[in-house]
Amino acid sequence: MRNLVIILGDQLTLDNPALQAFDPSQDHIVMAEVMQESTHVWSHRQRITLFLSAMRHFAEALQARHFPLTYFKLESHDYPDLAAVWRAMLQQHQPEAVRVCEPGDWRVLQALQATAREHHVALDVPQDTHYMCSIPQFQRWAEQQKGSSLRMENFYRGMRKKYKLLMKGDAPAGGEWNYDKQNREHLGKEGPQNLKPSPRFAPDALTQAVIALVKKRFPDHPGKLDEFPWPVKRAQALKLLSHFIAEKLPQFGTYQDAMWQDSPYLWHSLLASALNLKLLNPREVIAAAEQAYQQGQAPLASVEGFIRQVLGWREFVRGVYWLEMPALKSANYFKHERDLPAWFWTGQTQMQCLSQCIGQTLETGYAHHIQRLMVIGLFSTLAELSPQQVADWFLAVYVDAVEWVELPNVAGMALYANGGRFTSKPYVASGAYIKRMSNYCANCRYDPTLKAGEAACPFTTLYWAFLIKHETLLAGNQRTRLMVQHVGKMTASEQSAIKAFASQRLKQIQQL
Ligand code: SF4
Repeated sequence: MRNLVIILGDQLTLDNPALQAFDPSQDHIVMAEVMQESTHVWSHRQRITLFLSAMRHFAEALQARHFPLTYFKLESHDYPDLAAVWRAMLQQHQPEAVRVCEPGDWRVLQALQATAREHHVALDVPQDTHYMCSIPQFQRWAEQQKGSSLRMENFYRGMRKKYKLLMKGDAPAGGEWNYDKQNREHLGKEGPQNLKPSPRFAPDALTQAVIALVKKRFPDHPGKLDEFPWPVKRAQALKLLSHFIAEKLPQFGTYQDAMWQDSPYLWHSLLASALNLKLLNPREVIAAAEQAYQQGQAPLASVEGFIRQVLGWREFVRGVYWLEMPALKSANYFKHERDLPAWFWTGQTQMQCLSQCIGQTLETGYAHHIQRLMVIGLFSTLAELSPQQVADWFLAVYVDAVEWVELPNVAGMALYANGGRFTSKPYVASGAYIKRMSNYCANCRYDPTLKAGEAACPFTTLYWAFLIKHETLLAGNQRTRLMVQHVGKMTASEQSAIKAFASQRLKQIQQL
Protein backbone atom coordinates (compact mmCIF):
# COMPACT_ATOMS: atom_id res chain seq x y z
CA MET A 1 0.00 0.00 0.00
CA ARG A 2 1.16 3.52 -0.82
CA ASN A 3 -0.91 5.78 1.43
CA LEU A 4 -3.15 5.05 4.37
CA VAL A 5 -5.54 7.99 4.30
CA ILE A 6 -7.14 8.81 7.65
CA ILE A 7 -10.40 10.75 7.59
CA LEU A 8 -11.39 12.14 10.97
CA GLY A 9 -14.96 12.64 12.18
CA ASP A 10 -14.98 16.38 11.43
CA GLN A 11 -13.41 16.11 7.96
CA LEU A 12 -16.45 14.97 6.01
CA THR A 13 -15.88 16.53 2.60
CA LEU A 14 -14.83 15.12 -0.75
CA ASP A 15 -12.60 18.22 -0.99
CA ASN A 16 -10.55 16.81 1.89
CA PRO A 17 -6.95 17.56 0.81
CA ALA A 18 -5.84 14.13 2.08
CA LEU A 19 -7.91 12.71 -0.79
CA GLN A 20 -6.08 14.75 -3.44
CA ALA A 21 -4.39 12.44 -5.94
CA PHE A 22 -6.03 9.48 -4.22
CA ASP A 23 -5.36 6.30 -6.21
CA PRO A 24 -7.83 3.49 -5.38
CA SER A 25 -5.38 0.91 -6.66
CA GLN A 26 -2.63 1.94 -4.23
CA ASP A 27 -4.27 3.91 -1.41
CA HIS A 28 -6.73 3.00 1.31
CA ILE A 29 -8.99 5.06 3.58
CA VAL A 30 -9.71 4.42 7.26
CA MET A 31 -12.46 5.99 9.34
CA ALA A 32 -13.22 4.97 12.89
CA GLU A 33 -15.81 5.51 15.59
CA VAL A 34 -14.18 4.99 19.00
CA MET A 35 -15.44 5.30 22.56
CA GLN A 36 -12.77 7.77 23.62
CA GLU A 37 -14.00 10.48 21.26
CA SER A 38 -17.37 10.43 23.02
CA THR A 39 -16.09 9.97 26.54
CA HIS A 40 -12.96 12.16 26.92
CA VAL A 41 -15.56 14.77 27.77
CA TRP A 42 -19.01 13.58 28.87
CA SER A 43 -20.60 14.16 25.45
CA HIS A 44 -24.20 15.13 24.88
CA ARG A 45 -26.06 12.31 23.15
CA GLN A 46 -27.13 14.57 20.26
CA ARG A 47 -23.48 15.46 19.68
CA ILE A 48 -22.45 11.79 19.58
CA THR A 49 -25.35 10.98 17.28
CA LEU A 50 -24.48 13.86 14.96
CA PHE A 51 -20.85 12.83 14.57
CA LEU A 52 -21.58 9.11 14.09
CA SER A 53 -24.47 9.65 11.69
CA ALA A 54 -22.60 12.23 9.59
CA MET A 55 -19.54 9.95 9.46
CA ARG A 56 -21.62 6.97 8.33
CA HIS A 57 -23.37 9.04 5.67
CA PHE A 58 -20.00 10.28 4.42
CA ALA A 59 -18.67 6.71 4.35
CA GLU A 60 -21.63 5.82 2.12
CA ALA A 61 -20.66 8.66 -0.23
CA LEU A 62 -17.09 7.32 -0.41
CA GLN A 63 -18.30 3.77 -1.02
CA ALA A 64 -20.62 5.00 -3.79
CA ARG A 65 -17.48 6.27 -5.52
CA HIS A 66 -15.80 2.87 -5.00
CA PHE A 67 -13.09 4.32 -2.76
CA PRO A 68 -11.45 1.47 -0.78
CA LEU A 69 -12.44 2.13 2.83
CA THR A 70 -12.19 0.36 6.17
CA TYR A 71 -14.84 1.77 8.47
CA PHE A 72 -14.83 0.82 12.16
CA LYS A 73 -18.34 1.05 13.60
CA LEU A 74 -18.48 1.60 17.33
CA GLU A 75 -20.36 -1.64 17.97
CA SER A 76 -18.09 -3.83 15.87
CA HIS A 77 -14.66 -3.49 17.51
CA ASP A 78 -12.93 -3.05 20.87
CA TYR A 79 -10.26 -0.47 20.02
CA PRO A 80 -10.50 2.12 22.78
CA ASP A 81 -9.18 5.11 20.87
CA LEU A 82 -8.13 6.36 17.44
CA ALA A 83 -4.43 5.56 17.97
CA ALA A 84 -5.27 1.90 18.63
CA VAL A 85 -7.17 1.73 15.32
CA TRP A 86 -4.33 3.41 13.42
CA ARG A 87 -1.76 1.04 14.95
CA ALA A 88 -3.80 -1.98 13.84
CA MET A 89 -4.18 -0.58 10.32
CA LEU A 90 -0.47 0.19 10.07
CA GLN A 91 0.45 -3.34 11.15
CA GLN A 92 -2.01 -4.85 8.70
CA HIS A 93 -1.24 -2.70 5.63
CA GLN A 94 2.36 -1.53 6.13
CA PRO A 95 1.79 1.64 4.05
CA GLU A 96 4.60 3.84 2.78
CA ALA A 97 2.95 6.89 4.31
CA VAL A 98 0.00 8.05 6.38
CA ARG A 99 -1.96 11.00 4.98
CA VAL A 100 -4.38 13.03 7.06
CA CYS A 101 -5.68 16.54 6.66
CA GLU A 102 -4.74 18.87 9.55
CA PRO A 103 -6.87 17.73 12.50
CA GLY A 104 -9.04 20.18 14.43
CA ASP A 105 -7.70 19.04 17.80
CA TRP A 106 -4.16 19.54 19.08
CA ARG A 107 -4.64 16.29 21.05
CA VAL A 108 -5.34 14.32 17.85
CA LEU A 109 -2.32 15.77 16.06
CA GLN A 110 -0.11 14.67 18.98
CA ALA A 111 -1.57 11.15 18.79
CA LEU A 112 -0.99 10.99 15.02
CA GLN A 113 2.61 12.11 15.33
CA ALA A 114 3.30 9.65 18.17
CA THR A 115 1.77 6.76 16.22
CA ALA A 116 3.74 7.58 13.06
CA ARG A 117 6.98 7.81 15.07
CA GLU A 118 6.30 4.53 16.80
CA HIS A 119 5.76 2.78 13.44
CA HIS A 120 8.53 4.60 11.57
CA VAL A 121 6.11 5.65 8.87
CA ALA A 122 6.06 9.00 7.05
CA LEU A 123 3.22 11.28 8.16
CA ASP A 124 1.87 13.71 5.57
CA VAL A 125 -0.44 16.37 7.00
CA PRO A 126 -1.67 18.68 4.20
CA GLN A 127 -3.13 22.06 5.16
CA ASP A 128 -6.88 22.11 5.67
CA THR A 129 -8.11 24.12 2.68
CA HIS A 130 -11.59 24.36 4.21
CA TYR A 131 -10.34 27.40 6.12
CA MET A 132 -9.78 30.75 4.48
CA CYS A 133 -6.69 31.55 6.53
CA SER A 134 -4.07 28.81 6.90
CA ILE A 135 -2.27 28.25 10.19
CA PRO A 136 1.07 29.61 8.84
CA GLN A 137 -0.73 32.66 7.36
CA PHE A 138 -2.32 33.38 10.73
CA GLN A 139 1.00 32.95 12.49
CA ARG A 140 2.60 35.47 10.13
CA TRP A 141 -0.26 37.89 10.72
CA ALA A 142 0.06 37.46 14.50
CA GLU A 143 3.81 38.17 14.37
CA GLN A 144 3.14 41.46 12.59
CA GLN A 145 0.75 42.74 15.28
CA LYS A 146 1.97 45.38 17.68
CA GLY A 147 2.15 44.48 21.39
CA SER A 148 1.14 41.14 22.83
CA SER A 149 -2.59 41.36 22.04
CA LEU A 150 -4.34 40.06 18.94
CA ARG A 151 -7.52 41.77 17.80
CA MET A 152 -10.17 40.09 15.68
CA GLU A 153 -11.22 43.40 14.13
CA ASN A 154 -7.77 43.95 12.56
CA PHE A 155 -7.66 40.38 11.30
CA TYR A 156 -11.19 40.62 9.94
CA ARG A 157 -10.50 43.80 7.96
CA GLY A 158 -7.49 42.12 6.38
CA MET A 159 -9.63 39.11 5.41
CA ARG A 160 -12.32 41.37 3.91
CA LYS A 161 -9.69 43.06 1.75
CA LYS A 162 -7.96 39.82 0.84
CA TYR A 163 -11.17 38.15 -0.34
CA LYS A 164 -12.79 41.38 -1.62
CA LEU A 165 -15.92 40.73 0.43
CA LEU A 166 -18.43 43.51 1.07
CA MET A 167 -15.95 45.96 -0.45
CA LYS A 168 -16.40 48.95 -2.68
CA GLY A 169 -12.97 49.33 -4.18
CA ASP A 170 -10.62 49.64 -1.23
CA ALA A 171 -13.35 50.81 1.16
CA PRO A 172 -15.89 48.73 3.08
CA ALA A 173 -19.41 48.63 1.64
CA GLY A 174 -21.55 51.29 3.31
CA GLY A 175 -18.48 53.10 4.66
CA GLU A 176 -18.12 51.09 7.91
CA TRP A 177 -16.20 47.90 8.56
CA ASN A 178 -18.41 46.79 11.39
CA TYR A 179 -22.12 47.27 12.09
CA ASP A 180 -22.05 45.67 15.52
CA LYS A 181 -23.89 48.62 17.05
CA GLN A 182 -26.91 47.73 14.89
CA ASN A 183 -26.70 44.08 15.97
CA ARG A 184 -27.83 44.48 19.57
CA GLU A 185 -31.58 45.06 19.52
CA HIS A 186 -33.81 43.39 22.09
CA LEU A 187 -37.19 41.94 21.22
CA GLY A 188 -39.33 44.46 23.08
CA LYS A 189 -42.48 43.30 24.81
CA GLU A 190 -43.91 41.37 21.88
CA GLY A 191 -41.07 38.92 21.46
CA PRO A 192 -40.11 37.35 18.15
CA GLN A 193 -42.44 38.27 15.26
CA ASN A 194 -42.67 36.64 11.81
CA LEU A 195 -40.07 34.06 12.69
CA LYS A 196 -39.94 31.24 10.13
CA PRO A 197 -38.59 28.11 11.84
CA SER A 198 -35.58 26.42 10.28
CA PRO A 199 -36.11 23.09 8.52
CA ARG A 200 -35.67 20.04 10.71
CA PHE A 201 -34.38 16.82 9.23
CA ALA A 202 -36.24 13.68 10.23
CA PRO A 203 -33.76 10.88 10.99
CA ASP A 204 -33.47 8.36 8.15
CA ALA A 205 -32.93 4.63 8.80
CA LEU A 206 -29.19 5.10 9.21
CA THR A 207 -29.61 7.90 11.77
CA GLN A 208 -32.32 5.95 13.59
CA ALA A 209 -29.88 3.05 13.96
CA VAL A 210 -27.25 5.46 15.35
CA ILE A 211 -29.78 6.91 17.81
CA ALA A 212 -30.57 3.39 19.04
CA LEU A 213 -26.85 2.66 19.38
CA VAL A 214 -26.19 5.89 21.30
CA LYS A 215 -29.09 5.22 23.67
CA LYS A 216 -27.68 1.75 24.33
CA ARG A 217 -23.98 2.62 24.64
CA PHE A 218 -24.28 6.01 26.37
CA PRO A 219 -27.34 5.63 28.64
CA ASP A 220 -25.99 7.93 31.36
CA HIS A 221 -24.64 10.67 29.09
CA PRO A 222 -26.32 14.09 29.20
CA GLY A 223 -28.79 15.30 26.61
CA LYS A 224 -32.15 14.23 25.30
CA LEU A 225 -32.62 12.28 22.10
CA ASP A 226 -36.40 12.51 21.75
CA GLU A 227 -35.88 14.56 18.62
CA PHE A 228 -32.84 14.79 16.37
CA PRO A 229 -33.21 17.57 13.78
CA TRP A 230 -29.61 18.27 12.75
CA PRO A 231 -28.29 18.01 9.16
CA VAL A 232 -26.04 14.97 8.72
CA LYS A 233 -25.55 15.19 4.94
CA ARG A 234 -24.38 17.93 2.63
CA ALA A 235 -27.75 18.11 0.84
CA GLN A 236 -29.48 18.79 4.15
CA ALA A 237 -26.89 21.39 5.13
CA LEU A 238 -27.43 23.18 1.81
CA LYS A 239 -31.17 23.24 2.45
CA LEU A 240 -30.59 24.77 5.88
CA LEU A 241 -28.30 27.37 4.31
CA SER A 242 -30.89 28.33 1.65
CA HIS A 243 -33.59 28.67 4.28
CA PHE A 244 -31.40 30.85 6.46
CA ILE A 245 -30.46 33.18 3.62
CA ALA A 246 -34.05 33.60 2.43
CA GLU A 247 -35.96 33.64 5.70
CA LYS A 248 -33.68 34.56 8.59
CA LEU A 249 -30.69 36.55 7.38
CA PRO A 250 -32.68 39.81 6.88
CA GLN A 251 -33.42 39.97 10.62
CA PHE A 252 -30.46 37.99 11.89
CA GLY A 253 -28.25 41.03 12.45
CA THR A 254 -30.77 43.12 14.33
CA TYR A 255 -31.62 40.41 16.84
CA GLN A 256 -28.44 38.35 16.98
CA ASP A 257 -27.85 39.23 20.66
CA ALA A 258 -31.49 38.90 21.76
CA MET A 259 -32.87 36.06 23.89
CA TRP A 260 -36.44 34.97 24.54
CA GLN A 261 -38.07 32.43 26.84
CA ASP A 262 -38.66 29.06 25.13
CA SER A 263 -37.32 30.34 21.79
CA PRO A 264 -33.97 28.63 21.44
CA TYR A 265 -33.19 29.38 17.80
CA LEU A 266 -34.63 32.82 16.87
CA TRP A 267 -32.96 34.07 13.64
CA HIS A 268 -29.73 32.13 14.11
CA SER A 269 -28.47 30.11 11.18
CA LEU A 270 -27.83 26.79 13.01
CA LEU A 271 -25.10 26.19 10.42
CA ALA A 272 -22.14 25.86 12.79
CA SER A 273 -22.33 22.08 13.17
CA ALA A 274 -22.55 21.60 9.38
CA LEU A 275 -19.62 23.96 8.86
CA ASN A 276 -17.52 22.33 11.56
CA LEU A 277 -18.12 18.83 10.19
CA LYS A 278 -17.17 20.29 6.73
CA LEU A 279 -20.56 19.49 5.19
CA LEU A 280 -20.47 23.14 4.11
CA ASN A 281 -17.59 25.29 2.97
CA PRO A 282 -17.33 28.77 4.52
CA ARG A 283 -16.77 30.29 1.05
CA GLU A 284 -20.17 29.13 -0.20
CA VAL A 285 -21.87 30.27 3.01
CA ILE A 286 -20.29 33.72 2.78
CA ALA A 287 -20.99 33.98 -0.96
CA ALA A 288 -24.67 33.20 -0.39
CA ALA A 289 -24.91 35.90 2.30
CA GLU A 290 -23.08 38.50 0.20
CA GLN A 291 -25.28 37.74 -2.80
CA ALA A 292 -28.39 38.35 -0.66
CA TYR A 293 -26.99 41.82 0.10
CA GLN A 294 -26.05 42.54 -3.52
CA GLN A 295 -29.55 41.55 -4.65
CA GLY A 296 -31.21 43.71 -2.01
CA GLN A 297 -32.66 40.75 -0.09
CA ALA A 298 -30.90 41.43 3.21
CA PRO A 299 -29.60 44.63 4.81
CA LEU A 300 -25.90 45.33 5.06
CA ALA A 301 -25.83 45.27 8.88
CA SER A 302 -27.23 41.73 8.93
CA VAL A 303 -24.98 40.44 6.17
CA GLU A 304 -21.88 42.08 7.61
CA GLY A 305 -22.69 40.73 11.09
CA PHE A 306 -23.03 37.21 9.70
CA ILE A 307 -19.92 37.40 7.50
CA ARG A 308 -17.97 38.78 10.48
CA GLN A 309 -18.82 35.61 12.41
CA VAL A 310 -17.77 33.23 9.62
CA LEU A 311 -14.88 35.05 7.93
CA GLY A 312 -13.73 36.99 10.97
CA TRP A 313 -14.32 35.33 14.29
CA ARG A 314 -14.36 31.67 13.14
CA GLU A 315 -11.08 31.94 11.24
CA PHE A 316 -9.56 34.09 13.99
CA VAL A 317 -10.26 31.64 16.82
CA ARG A 318 -8.86 28.78 14.79
CA GLY A 319 -5.64 30.71 14.27
CA VAL A 320 -5.50 31.62 17.93
CA TYR A 321 -6.11 27.99 18.97
CA TRP A 322 -3.08 26.72 17.07
CA LEU A 323 -0.99 29.65 18.22
CA GLU A 324 -1.85 29.21 21.89
CA MET A 325 -2.00 25.44 22.34
CA PRO A 326 -1.29 23.63 24.57
CA ALA A 327 -1.03 26.55 27.06
CA LEU A 328 -4.62 27.65 26.39
CA LYS A 329 -5.90 24.36 27.76
CA SER A 330 -4.59 25.10 31.26
CA ALA A 331 -4.80 28.92 31.22
CA ASN A 332 -6.35 30.37 34.38
CA TYR A 333 -5.61 34.10 34.60
CA PHE A 334 -7.96 34.74 37.54
CA LYS A 335 -7.00 31.46 39.29
CA HIS A 336 -10.64 30.37 39.46
CA GLU A 337 -10.98 26.88 40.93
CA ARG A 338 -14.63 26.36 41.89
CA ASP A 339 -16.26 23.13 40.67
CA LEU A 340 -19.18 23.27 38.26
CA PRO A 341 -22.49 23.17 40.14
CA ALA A 342 -24.39 19.93 39.54
CA TRP A 343 -27.22 21.87 37.85
CA PHE A 344 -25.00 22.50 34.82
CA TRP A 345 -25.97 18.91 33.93
CA THR A 346 -29.69 19.22 34.70
CA GLY A 347 -30.67 22.86 34.14
CA GLN A 348 -32.44 22.77 37.50
CA THR A 349 -31.61 26.15 38.93
CA GLN A 350 -33.90 28.92 40.12
CA MET A 351 -32.04 31.41 37.93
CA GLN A 352 -34.41 31.55 35.00
CA CYS A 353 -31.82 32.68 32.46
CA LEU A 354 -29.51 29.75 33.27
CA SER A 355 -32.39 27.33 33.54
CA GLN A 356 -33.48 28.37 30.03
CA CYS A 357 -30.03 28.38 28.44
CA ILE A 358 -28.78 25.17 30.06
CA GLY A 359 -32.20 23.52 29.73
CA GLN A 360 -32.37 24.13 25.97
CA THR A 361 -28.73 23.03 25.64
CA LEU A 362 -29.50 19.68 27.24
CA GLU A 363 -32.67 19.35 25.18
CA THR A 364 -31.27 20.35 21.78
CA GLY A 365 -27.44 20.51 21.95
CA TYR A 366 -27.71 24.18 20.97
CA ALA A 367 -27.61 27.67 22.44
CA HIS A 368 -26.72 30.79 20.50
CA HIS A 369 -23.56 32.80 21.09
CA ILE A 370 -25.02 35.35 23.51
CA GLN A 371 -26.65 32.62 25.60
CA ARG A 372 -23.26 30.89 25.73
CA LEU A 373 -21.14 34.02 26.28
CA MET A 374 -23.37 36.38 28.27
CA VAL A 375 -25.40 33.95 30.36
CA ILE A 376 -23.51 30.68 30.91
CA GLY A 377 -20.00 32.08 30.33
CA LEU A 378 -20.78 35.21 32.31
CA PHE A 379 -22.04 33.25 35.31
CA SER A 380 -18.97 31.00 35.11
CA THR A 381 -16.62 33.99 35.30
CA LEU A 382 -18.54 35.74 38.06
CA ALA A 383 -18.89 32.53 40.09
CA GLU A 384 -15.17 31.82 39.68
CA LEU A 385 -15.69 28.39 38.11
CA SER A 386 -12.65 26.44 36.94
CA PRO A 387 -11.98 27.36 33.27
CA GLN A 388 -10.97 23.78 32.51
CA GLN A 389 -14.23 22.36 33.87
CA VAL A 390 -16.28 25.01 32.07
CA ALA A 391 -14.44 24.43 28.78
CA ASP A 392 -14.93 20.66 29.06
CA TRP A 393 -18.63 21.23 29.70
CA PHE A 394 -18.98 23.42 26.59
CA LEU A 395 -17.06 20.87 24.52
CA ALA A 396 -19.36 18.12 25.77
CA VAL A 397 -22.79 19.67 25.34
CA TYR A 398 -22.92 21.52 22.01
CA VAL A 399 -23.46 19.74 18.71
CA ASP A 400 -21.11 22.17 16.96
CA ALA A 401 -18.34 21.91 19.55
CA VAL A 402 -14.89 20.96 18.27
CA GLU A 403 -11.96 21.96 20.44
CA TRP A 404 -10.35 24.41 17.99
CA VAL A 405 -13.45 26.60 18.10
CA GLU A 406 -14.79 25.86 21.57
CA LEU A 407 -11.66 26.37 23.68
CA PRO A 408 -10.69 29.87 22.44
CA ASN A 409 -14.32 30.98 22.68
CA VAL A 410 -14.80 29.66 26.21
CA ALA A 411 -11.43 29.91 27.95
CA GLY A 412 -10.11 32.83 25.90
CA MET A 413 -13.16 34.99 25.34
CA ALA A 414 -15.90 34.12 27.83
CA LEU A 415 -13.65 33.40 30.84
CA TYR A 416 -10.67 35.67 30.08
CA ALA A 417 -8.54 32.71 31.15
CA ASN A 418 -5.50 33.75 29.12
CA GLY A 419 -5.57 37.32 30.35
CA GLY A 420 -6.93 39.09 27.27
CA ARG A 421 -4.45 37.77 24.72
CA PHE A 422 -7.16 38.12 22.05
CA THR A 423 -10.06 39.88 23.75
CA SER A 424 -10.01 43.50 24.74
CA LYS A 425 -11.76 43.08 28.11
CA PRO A 426 -13.32 40.54 30.48
CA TYR A 427 -16.96 40.04 29.41
CA VAL A 428 -18.73 40.84 32.66
CA ALA A 429 -22.15 42.37 33.25
CA SER A 430 -24.87 42.41 35.87
CA GLY A 431 -28.37 40.96 35.65
CA ALA A 432 -29.40 44.27 34.03
CA TYR A 433 -27.79 43.15 30.76
CA ILE A 434 -29.78 39.92 30.72
CA LYS A 435 -32.95 41.83 31.60
CA ARG A 436 -32.37 44.21 28.68
CA MET A 437 -31.65 41.47 26.14
CA SER A 438 -34.32 38.93 27.13
CA ASN A 439 -37.57 38.35 28.97
CA TYR A 440 -36.02 35.76 31.28
CA CYS A 441 -36.04 38.02 34.35
CA ALA A 442 -39.84 38.44 34.18
CA ASN A 443 -40.16 34.75 35.07
CA CYS A 444 -37.42 34.60 37.68
CA ARG A 445 -37.58 34.52 41.47
CA TYR A 446 -34.64 36.95 41.59
CA ASP A 447 -34.58 40.69 40.89
CA PRO A 448 -31.83 41.90 38.54
CA THR A 449 -31.81 45.39 40.09
CA LEU A 450 -30.86 44.18 43.59
CA LYS A 451 -27.25 43.70 44.70
CA ALA A 452 -27.95 42.14 48.09
CA GLY A 453 -30.71 40.37 50.00
CA GLU A 454 -32.59 37.13 49.40
CA ALA A 455 -34.27 38.41 46.22
CA ALA A 456 -31.03 39.81 44.75
CA CYS A 457 -30.05 38.46 41.34
CA PRO A 458 -26.90 36.33 41.76
CA PHE A 459 -25.47 37.83 38.56
CA THR A 460 -25.83 41.35 39.98
CA THR A 461 -24.35 40.46 43.37
CA LEU A 462 -21.43 38.58 41.86
CA TYR A 463 -20.86 41.30 39.25
CA TRP A 464 -20.36 43.94 41.93
CA ALA A 465 -18.14 41.61 43.94
CA PHE A 466 -16.10 41.00 40.76
CA LEU A 467 -15.72 44.74 40.14
CA ILE A 468 -14.58 45.31 43.72
CA LYS A 469 -12.09 42.45 43.56
CA HIS A 470 -10.64 43.42 40.17
CA GLU A 471 -10.99 47.19 40.38
CA THR A 472 -7.35 47.88 39.51
CA LEU A 473 -7.34 45.64 36.44
CA LEU A 474 -10.64 47.04 35.14
CA ALA A 475 -9.74 50.66 35.86
CA GLY A 476 -6.61 50.25 33.74
CA ASN A 477 -8.57 49.10 30.69
CA GLN A 478 -10.14 51.74 28.40
CA ARG A 479 -13.15 49.51 27.73
CA THR A 480 -13.95 48.75 31.38
CA ARG A 481 -12.77 51.96 33.08
CA LEU A 482 -16.30 53.39 33.31
CA MET A 483 -17.65 50.16 34.81
CA VAL A 484 -15.59 50.54 37.97
CA GLN A 485 -16.05 54.27 38.50
CA HIS A 486 -18.93 53.57 40.86
CA VAL A 487 -16.86 51.15 42.94
CA GLY A 488 -14.58 54.02 43.94
CA LYS A 489 -17.60 55.89 45.30
CA MET A 490 -18.73 53.02 47.53
CA THR A 491 -17.90 53.15 51.21
CA ALA A 492 -15.71 50.42 52.69
CA SER A 493 -18.69 49.00 54.56
CA GLU A 494 -20.81 48.88 51.38
CA GLN A 495 -18.03 47.00 49.64
CA SER A 496 -17.65 44.60 52.58
CA ALA A 497 -21.38 43.90 52.64
CA ILE A 498 -21.43 43.02 48.93
CA LYS A 499 -18.35 40.83 49.26
CA ALA A 500 -19.84 39.02 52.25
CA PHE A 501 -23.16 38.44 50.47
CA ALA A 502 -21.41 37.25 47.29
CA SER A 503 -19.36 34.82 49.32
CA GLN A 504 -22.52 33.52 51.01
CA ARG A 505 -24.20 33.10 47.58
CA LEU A 506 -21.23 31.12 46.28
CA LYS A 507 -21.29 28.82 49.31
CA GLN A 508 -24.90 28.02 48.34
CA ILE A 509 -24.22 27.75 44.62
CA GLN A 510 -25.88 24.35 44.34
CA GLN A 511 -29.15 25.84 45.61
CA LEU A 512 -29.21 29.04 43.55
FE1 SF4 B 1 -31.02 35.68 35.43
FE2 SF4 B 1 -30.90 37.44 37.43
FE3 SF4 B 1 -32.63 37.78 35.46
FE4 SF4 B 1 -32.99 35.83 37.21
S1 SF4 B 1 -33.04 38.00 37.63
S2 SF4 B 1 -33.20 35.69 34.99
S3 SF4 B 1 -30.90 35.20 37.63
S4 SF4 B 1 -30.43 37.81 35.30
